[in-house]
Amino acid sequence: MAQVLADRRDMEFVLYEQMKTEEVLAFEKFAGFNRKMFDMIIAEARTFAVKELLPTYAEGDRIGLTFENGEVKVPECFHRPHELIIEGEWTSLTENPDWGGQGLPVNISMAVAEYIVGGNYCLSNYARMGHGTGKMVELFGTQAQKDLFLKKLYTGVWGGTMLLTEPQAGSDVGALTTSAVKNPDGTYTIKGDKIFITNGDHDLSENIIHPVLARIEGSPAGTKGISIFLVPKIWVNEDGSLGEPNDVACTGIEEKMGIHAMSTCSMSLGSKGKCRGLLLGAPNEGMHIMFVMMNEARLGVGFQGFNSASAAYLYAVNYARERIQGRDIEKFADKEAPSVPIIHHPDVRRMLLWMKAHVEGMRSFIYYVGSCFDKLEHIPEEDVKAHYQGLLDLLTPIVKAYCAQRGFDVCIQAIQVYGGYGYIKDYPVEQLARDCKIASIYEGTDGIQAMDLLARKLGMQKGRVFMSLLEKMQQAAARAKAFESLVPLAVRLEKAVSRLGETAMHIGQNAMSPELKTAFAHAFPFLEVMGDVIMAWMLLWRASVSQEKLDNGAKKKDMHFYEGQIKTAEFFIRTVLPVTFGKMDSIMDASKSAVEISETGFGGL
Ligand SMILES: Cc1cc2nc3c(=O)[nH]c(=O)nc-3n(C[C@H](O)[C@H](O)[C@H](O)COP(=O)(O)OP(=O)(O)OC[C@H]3O[C@@H](n4cnc5c(N)ncnc54)[C@H](O)[C@@H]3O)c2cc1C
Repeated sequence: MAQVLADRRDMEFVLYEQMKTEEVLAFEKFAGFNRKMFDMIIAEARTFAVKELLPTYAEGDRIGLTFENGEVKVPECFHRPHELIIEGEWTSLTENPDWGGQGLPVNISMAVAEYIVGGNYCLSNYARMGHGTGKMVELFGTQAQKDLFLKKLYTGVWGGTMLLTEPQAGSDVGALTTSAVKNPDGTYTIKGDKIFITNGDHDLSENIIHPVLARIEGSPAGTKGISIFLVPKIWVNEDGSLGEPNDVACTGIEEKMGIHAMSTCSMSLGSKGKCRGLLLGAPNEGMHIMFVMMNEARLGVGFQGFNSASAAYLYAVNYARERIQGRDIEKFADKEAPSVPIIHHPDVRRMLLWMKAHVEGMRSFIYYVGSCFDKLEHIPEEDVKAHYQGLLDLLTPIVKAYCAQRGFDVCIQAIQVYGGYGYIKDYPVEQLARDCKIASIYEGTDGIQAMDLLARKLGMQKGRVFMSLLEKMQQAAARAKAFESLVPLAVRLEKAVSRLGETAMHIGQNAMSPELKTAFAHAFPFLEVMGDVIMAWMLLWRASVSQEKLDNGAKKKDMHFYEGQIKTAEFFIRTVLPVTFGKMDSIMDASKSAVEISETGFGGL
């Protein structure tokens, strides 16, 4: 039967054959688990998502939100599944069971998220966003703050948000003006207006805990003077009971291109002078603390792009198997030839394989990052920890921006596969495209991620982190060469990796020279080529695993899957990667046109 949301066989392949997730069972923390338990949890997530969440996806989009008397109401059909997400404890799977988590490895939680988030992104987010707020409380909060907030946030009983953006402070968070004044009882009086706040208000939780960035009176300007506060919608008394409303008001919600069922709120804090917040961590440490949540959210946003692409691909390939249209091109002159499913047409196969390559490459990439998290947490040696931390820092902007961008591209391609039906609302792919576009914008736009990669990440530890990533790719190419069929692909990957090294050196040096504007005009293309080469690495790695299985006599039912892996790697490396070489040439060429053109020269005046 046709699958939805995520290809089960592919997920199993990545988890157990490529990333060897079972190896985490050797870590003490996971001693109580086994493969069977992992599979059961994932299977339960799949059943739950398909039965309870997915049916609400299109309805949520159609009905949207209502805003009346200062309150946001979500579609009625969200209430029961939201409760079920909480009852099923699908919110903080990797966290300590003492605080309401499940203590699972990161990659198993990713597999679960493919279904829970994929089933209905907007709906699942209301329960799952508390995790990021909770993580900051766990890492930086006082014991009293943990006792008051942590379990309720991790379990999704209370909602969580992040309040950074203000009208004049978007990408430039340091321009914020929300203020905090210390009270005699140690709390702070908060005053300011925030905009674009995801899940800022809704009627699914009895309380919402807002982490708010604000400046304490007298603190320095810019990001250095920002502190972070926990601002409950309803004040929480010291004994954990709920007190009075905390002068936090939603003043409006946005009408958006997509994610119609997710509230995007304008928030007024302290308009009556009665909004109180609790300082989290030390004064002026707000950005440092918020980055914990932002890094998690950036990976989550990249995941959103991938997750939408995964669903869009499955819809498209299943549609292409069923939609009958046109004759086989080899029989074009034969008027009697039967019409065929569109999956027979070479151009449709090209689109599908392009989508498959990106979806599977992104799945491997994201689970690879997940496995780095597990190693970081459980391998005791400090140098190994530093290695994985470095890799995560380097890869975070790429997961965020590349998967957001390609995720959207895949959704758009899915519309093309459907033809006219893809453009209308009776079919699910146009909603996926609309919902997924935001991933390139929030949590720091793709442009801001590219600047982070070029300005901060590329040169980390004098470039050693980046070099170690290239080494991993070269090692994968060397391993692929053990299989005769893969040698030509491995040679192309080796060339791409060494060209990537040259390109990085070139743009990195330019970024530290008077040519820095030109370098930054090429920052996003550079992030994209890094993503492309990572895709080629992941797909060749998949092909090596598959070729080995085939050589060792794979089961008949697996043969098509493994052969499909090799064809997918070949497609990407022979048809997409050459374009990436062209993009690398253009970065090396370092045209100054985007920098030199005058503002009037852009026209339109
Ligand atoms: C649906 C939605 C949900 C959101 N949820 C939240 C939330 O929960 N909490 C929250 O705090 N915010 C949230 N945001 C805000 C979001 O993070 C910002 O919109 C985003 O960071 C960009 O800021 P901006 O819209 O002000 O754009 P701007 O900062 O004005 O950017 C406009 C363009 O200029 C580019 N740009 C800006 N500065 C630079 C620079 N220095 N160098 C190069 N290019 C630059 C950007 O890349 C972009 O292309 C949300 C936004 C939306 C639309």
